[in-house]
Amino acid sequence: MQQQGTELAQLAISSLEGTDCSFCADGELTQDTYKGNDAVVCDACDTPGAQFW
Ligand SMILES: [Zn+2]
Repeated sequence: MQQQGTELAQLAISSLEGTDCSFCADGELTQDTYKGNDAVVCDACDTPGAQFW
């Protein structure tokens, strides 16, 4: 189950990567880690657009 969750997280991250940030005007979501977890993080304001445990 852990591995399936990771796969789904990767899919979600892939689909979110490159989309516009919802929290600022100029940012774009890039794949990164947030607090040690996979996430997409805005490259302008560092707000995580998605986070998976
Ligand atoms: Zn942003």
